[in-house]
Amino acid sequence: MKTIKIGGKINLKQPEVMRYSKLFGKTKHEAPSDANSKNAELLTKGGFIDKLSSGIYSFLPLGIRSLKKINEIIREEMNAIGGQEILMPALHPVEIWEQTGRNKTMDEILYRTKAGEKEFVFGPSHEETVTPLAKRQIQSYKDMPMVVYQLQTKFRNEPRAKSGLLRGREFGMKDMYSFHSSEKDLDRYYKKVIEAYLNVYSRCEMDAYVLQASGGAFTDKYSHEFSIKTDAGEDTMILCKNCKFAQNLEVAEGKYDNPSSDEEEKELTKVQVERGKTVKANAEAHNCDNWRILKSVVYMIEGAGPVGILIRGDFNVNENKVEKYFQKRVRPATSEELKKYGLVEGFISPVGEDKKQIESISFVADHSIAKMKNFVTGANKLGIDLVNVNIGRDFEAEDFADFVEVKEGFKCPQCGGPLTEEKAVESGNIFKLGTKFSNDFDLKFTDKDGKQKPVIMGCYGIGNTRLLGTIVEASNDEKGIIWPKSVAPYHVHLIQLGNNDEVNTMAEKLYELMRKDNIEVLFDERDARAGEKFKDADLIGLPLRIVVSKRTLEKDSVEWKERKEGNAKEVKIDDVIENIKKFINE
Ligand SMILES: [Zn+2]
Repeated sequence: MKTIKIGGKINLKQPEVMRYSKLFGKTKHEAPSDANSKNAELLTKGGFIDKLSSGIYSFLPLGIRSLKKINEIIREEMNAIGGQEILMPALHPVEIWEQTGRNKTMDEILYRTKAGEKEFVFGPSHEETVTPLAKRQIQSYKDMPMVVYQLQTKFRNEPRAKSGLLRGREFGMKDMYSFHSSEKDLDRYYKKVIEAYLNVYSRCEMDAYVLQASGGAFTDKYSHEFSIKTDAGEDTMILCKNCKFAQNLEVAEGKYDNPSSDEEEKELTKVQVERGKTVKANAEAHNCDNWRILKSVVYMIEGAGPVGILIRGDFNVNENKVEKYFQKRVRPATSEELKKYGLVEGFISPVGEDKKQIESISFVADHSIAKMKNFVTGANKLGIDLVNVNIGRDFEAEDFADFVEVKEGFKCPQCGGPLTEEKAVESGNIFKLGTKFSNDFDLKFTDKDGKQKPVIMGCYGIGNTRLLGTIVEASNDEKGIIWPKSVAPYHVHLIQLGNNDEVNTMAEKLYELMRKDNIEVLFDERDARAGEKFKDADLIGLPLRIVVSKRTLEKDSVEWKERKEGNAKEVKIDDVIENIKKFINE
């Protein structure tokens, strides 16, 4: 075993088996039929992981090498901000979960087991273990700040475990917990963690953004998530290209112009129309733009009646914002429900001659209509529309709030720059827990004034196996994975072509030279066709491919091809080792 340098920063022990013929976990032509995500498909075909069951994977030697590198990057960055590594148990007595009540609130995702009379939970998270553990360590304000982290396996009964390493039932996670004597100290440390997380992602060559999280009312102001921009992402983030302000679509805010700002209020008129139910059909019937339509979207509020959300015709309602406003679950009303409340689908509006008809429903408005003039809207009667409707004169809204779904074309709330919609994968999140868990476990400290106070906590997670999957989602092409150098299982894919003595001797010699120089090399010395070897090399996706063949040896050269580049070139054998070292460290 030798210690070697990777990407200039991480030290790993180089295992002895680096000959492809001996590797446990070779490439496959077919991925499992249910590998319906890119990372599951490429990592399985490339021989990095092997599926045991839905959301449960084995890591093979290639996969473990990349995962170890990710782990080392995470460790270095957490150590740099004072994190101390520990390892807590994965098996938790159920009592600690009863103490926080999360045996009930997280019941759906908990894996439980019983041994005799004793019940256990497979840890999906570790606040329940770390808080009592800290209680045995922290007594005084002098003991804080204190920060511990672990790299541990987590268990969550994920109902939709179909995204390979992105959503596992058993998965790896770095979870870190910080303990503070004041809110101010937590705030200070929280900012440091954001920087450390961004370092982790940039060292993995990922384009990551910090977003204010969309979590429930409880966590809202106190949590952030980290999203990696990739076209393959399941989430949508709203990004300002100008100031880099990133928002989760669910909570995103944006500015927009008022196209009717110069208008005077015109006389209200009633017209008969034959038209479809949509905004588009409405605008076409009146020969106006979509924004001039006053749209009423009716939602059923859990435990209450229907509510109409009034919004500009060219905007959509963000259901998440409606839920937040009412603090209840909501869903769009069905056609039957609209009928039941006497509402005419496609012609619903807060304005009507028959006031009784709309008494059963209240209207709340999005800010987008507050200053708009001369709307077109229905009259709660089939085939009747109202033109030049004005708020304040013709109708009132019960309240104004932000219900709009931000989309491309809106402007940044911070700098006014243009906003774009980007696909992203969530890759980490951080929370200010406050005193929630310290109160549950009576974790207190003696402050400077001699008083006993609850410890203030933060927690910080990165799914390390999920990050591996995300890297593959973000960095691949039609041929396979394109590993960033920092987390590639090996740096060089050395290939010999043709079973020829001269070629074999030179390839073996280069392989030994690379090993001697601590270059991480995977040597494909199989007696196989060139096409097969190249296909495998592209699929596995190591950063550099070096080919030795009869043809290259005639020119005292090897063929040099970088996975990110399309073209191959020739490099003289005498220069190849130096060039590789330069390539790895550049
Ligand atoms: Zn901006």
